[in-house]
Amino acid sequence: MPAYTKLDHQRFLLEEVHLLRDLFTFDRFKHLNWDESWMMVEAAKQLADRDMYPHYREMDTSNVHYDGHGHVKTHPQLKTIIRNGAEQGWISGSAKLEHGGMQLPIMLFNTAHHTFHSANNGAVGYMGLTAGSAALINSFGSKEQHDLFVPKMYAGQWQGTMALTEPQAGSSLSDITTTAYPIGDGYYNIKGQKIFISGGQHEACENFIHLTLARIEGAPAGTKGISLFIIPKYWPVADRSLQPNDVFCAGDFQKLGQRAYATTHLVFGDNHACKGWLVGEPNKGLSYMFQMMNEARISVGMGAAAIAQAAYLASLEYAQERTQGRVPSEKDPLKAPTPIINHADVQRMLLTQKAIVEGGLALTMECNRQFDLEHAASGDEKQDAWLLLEILTPIVKAWCSEQANRSASLAIQVYGGYGYTMDFPAQQYYRDLKIFTLYEGTTGIQSLDLLGRKVSMEKGKALQVLSAHIMKTIQQASDDDVLNTYATQLYDEVQRIGKVLQHLQQFVPGDVDRYLSDATVFMDMMGTTVVAWQWLKQAVAARASIQQGNFAQQTKNFYEGIIHTMKFFFRYELPHAEACSRTLMNPEYLTNLKDNKLF
Ligand SMILES: Cc1cc2nc3c(=O)[nH]c(=O)nc-3n(C[C@H](O)[C@H](O)[C@H](O)COP(=O)(O)OP(=O)(O)OC[C@H]3O[C@@H](n4cnc5c(N)ncnc54)[C@H](O)[C@@H]3O)c2cc1C
Repeated sequence: MPAYTKLDHQRFLLEEVHLLRDLFTFDRFKHLNWDESWMMVEAAKQLADRDMYPHYREMDTSNVHYDGHGHVKTHPQLKTIIRNGAEQGWISGSAKLEHGGMQLPIMLFNTAHHTFHSANNGAVGYMGLTAGSAALINSFGSKEQHDLFVPKMYAGQWQGTMALTEPQAGSSLSDITTTAYPIGDGYYNIKGQKIFISGGQHEACENFIHLTLARIEGAPAGTKGISLFIIPKYWPVADRSLQPNDVFCAGDFQKLGQRAYATTHLVFGDNHACKGWLVGEPNKGLSYMFQMMNEARISVGMGAAAIAQAAYLASLEYAQERTQGRVPSEKDPLKAPTPIINHADVQRMLLTQKAIVEGGLALTMECNRQFDLEHAASGDEKQDAWLLLEILTPIVKAWCSEQANRSASLAIQVYGGYGYTMDFPAQQYYRDLKIFTLYEGTTGIQSLDLLGRKVSMEKGKALQVLSAHIMKTIQQASDDDVLNTYATQLYDEVQRIGKVLQHLQQFVPGDVDRYLSDATVFMDMMGTTVVAWQWLKQAVAARASIQQGNFAQQTKNFYEGIIHTMKFFFRYELPHAEACSRTLMNPEYLTNLKDNKLF
């Protein structure tokens, strides 16, 4: 089987960079240890090898489709994937013991999901959605709601979904119009339509639990009037049978990629008989849903890095086998053609991919660690973890998804013309990846969140915490002869971000449109700098192991590969941050074409 993921890099991050072991000292995780945890990562890889990867290509070609009568046809393997994944704990794993989970650190849970995304991203999404929607019920629902729905969801029998988007309300959820009319005892009659609902209907599960945003009749306009409802396709009743609810699947969108993953159009209450159950308090729905959205944003960033990793490894294998031409210094036309991996430009493309996918995974792990600390630690440590995660969440989502697209494009480029054909998998990875820049909030929306909210939140505290973490790594690297020049470069970039923000301050509060007009360029600058930090952090850990001669888990080549890729990122990628700063500080305002004449 071709390599599609790298356990050695996952292990390095868990063991030496982001220190999973530290978490076992907290009460929340004290029932775990390293050996058991690593065995779970290996078991997840075996599951992916057996159930997921072998079906990746055929689940694309025999794609999900609508039968015209409310049902969505899916690949028969999907049921096996979901049931076996559930049995191994990859839906419930990170939930608390009292909720029926294993109380795993999200660092560990998401490492398995990273492998699944590399193996078969269209299939694993179903499990992730159920995990996230069950977690919403656990956090904000009643015990009755938990008991009725969550155990079946954790068994993989019932599918959870997040139903937010409507035809007229995608990025702007404040404009949703699905309406809830009270019928007593916390139940409501629901009327409305949701589109693009992932996993909203398929053959692998028996019931669908739609965690739906709707507006209670008479609620305030905007985000303050949105509530969260559980709307099952079938209501479980006392005799354990299932009674149909008025939820109709009106179609499945045919897509560029992720063609194993149903994307449904749901109609609630066409026959005025759709019953929903309020979760928590009225009008707090969007704030509840943010729990799921924030976790999903980290997963989307991670998933993108994982798919790009599979594309990278496929193109690496091809580059080692395909021969073409000779290196420039070889003048003898009778010499056998060289494997293309020996061409400098092919090495540049491979190194760029490696830098993106492993840098992206390192950033994801950083987020996962902060998530775990936020839930396990107390006092200042908890507060710092929360702040750091708040500012990193839009970055991990936007940077990883945008760069993973670029990375998979390079994978096709390594293949040459063959990469463009359906004979090789690179095109599928490339097609699958596009959606990652769109769902869970587009790159534009993540960038507005970063510049408009996160850099100034808590009087700039989140940015200060991030800066303190980066400075700690810079300090460690400064003490090392090999790394200190990179420490200086990163320090300069952090200073540059400060200057850009100072420059942008002139526009607020007076001209907020201007302040936010280049939010995506700012995201690009921040993302590049933050991933440079993650590369330096990995290099510090690799240098420590090399110096201690600690080759118990990894080889010297592995550590040297980390340091080499860090150097590559600093030489080829980090200068982009400076280019962004020049755009951001340019006095001309070019995206303010009110009359639209130019277009
Ligand atoms: C395959 C797929 C699966 C999905 N799964 C789900 C799901 O499970 N549940 C769910 O609820 N939704 C889901 N979605 C919906 C998805 O989250 C939305 O498509 C996404 O949020 C964008 O909304 P939109 O498509 O309406 O685009 P629009 O909001 O119309 O955006 C169009 C463009 O305008 C830009 N834009 C919009 N507003 C602004 C602004 N204020 N400032 C600057 N730029 C702006 C956007 O960045 C984008 O480039 C899915 C979508 C797809 C395609």
